[in-house]
Amino acid sequence: MNAVELTREFVKIPSLTPEEEAFAQHLEKLFEQAGWKASRHEIADNRWNLYVVPDDKIEPEVVFCAHLDTVAPFLEYDEDEEYIYGRGSCDDKGVMASMIEAAIRLVAEGHTRIGLLFTVGEEVDSIGAKVANDRAPGSVKYTLIGEPTENTLIAGQKGIYIAEVTTSGKPAHSAYPALGESAVNKLLDILERVRQAELPVDPGLGETTLNISKLTGGDRYNVIPDEAGAGLMFRVATSTADVEHIVRKAVGDQGTIEVINRSEPQTMVRIPGYDQGIVAFGSDIPYLTKWGERLMLGPGSIHDAHTDHEKISKRAIRDAVRLYVDIAKYLFSQ
Ligand SMILES: [Zn+2]
Repeated sequence: MNAVELTREFVKIPSLTPEEEAFAQHLEKLFEQAGWKASRHEIADNRWNLYVVPDDKIEPEVVFCAHLDTVAPFLEYDEDEEYIYGRGSCDDKGVMASMIEAAIRLVAEGHTRIGLLFTVGEEVDSIGAKVANDRAPGSVKYTLIGEPTENTLIAGQKGIYIAEVTTSGKPAHSAYPALGESAVNKLLDILERVRQAELPVDPGLGETTLNISKLTGGDRYNVIPDEAGAGLMFRVATSTADVEHIVRKAVGDQGTIEVINRSEPQTMVRIPGYDQGIVAFGSDIPYLTKWGERLMLGPGSIHDAHTDHEKISKRAIRDAVRLYVDIAKYLFSQ
């Protein structure tokens, strides 16, 4: 199976979260035809991860993992000399195609203790990875997660901390502010304190960063708003406890905090001879704790993922196949 041809084929099949089934069935059939053993991790009706090994008796040591789902909207396949375009081309179908060709090559060369895991829901809540974690084969020593890293091996991934802050006040006619209490003013004070806080820095993972969004509060010019809210998303370099402390201190008794999601920063396997980078974006990695030590590498750029010009270079796909084969051989030799 050729990775460029597979990418072309995969991009044509929509698999927007949570509608991964048609694509998962396509893959399942592809592996059955190749004589590999595919099994499902059921998540819900019409939703399942696909787990594949060369045959029933294989207990894999190294697993390649990619996600089945893509963000919306679906973008039609297109192609020129250099690139394949379309939704999922770099996130994550070119990656997946490269992993499949690499796995087949490895088996052909006698490295049979390989497995493949394809998860649902990575783009939303990593539900597939969470379920897969309880199904981890005990034999797995390393899992290589495929995300578009421009074929750079990743040494660490920042964590995330997402919280919604809500304030409340007392409504009044805006001509008589002394009679009311503005929830928006409270919120602005809180946000200013968060913005002034020194965010933690890690020597390896760099700076913690903050994005403030989803601002709400007030709907009329002449009424003092009694409710306001904001979403805070941190990309965490040290630990989510550090960030939580900053948020709690900034909010004090002036509002409430609802934690929407959090995951800790991850450090990954280092391999001699590879320049290793850092990623700030999320992935299934924090949820696959029982799948051995983890690594991350994949063709394509995260700056093309989720955009209306999503694309992947065919050269990068071919390079990734070679890198996956080399990295797996190194891991088997450990
Ligand atoms: Zn991805």
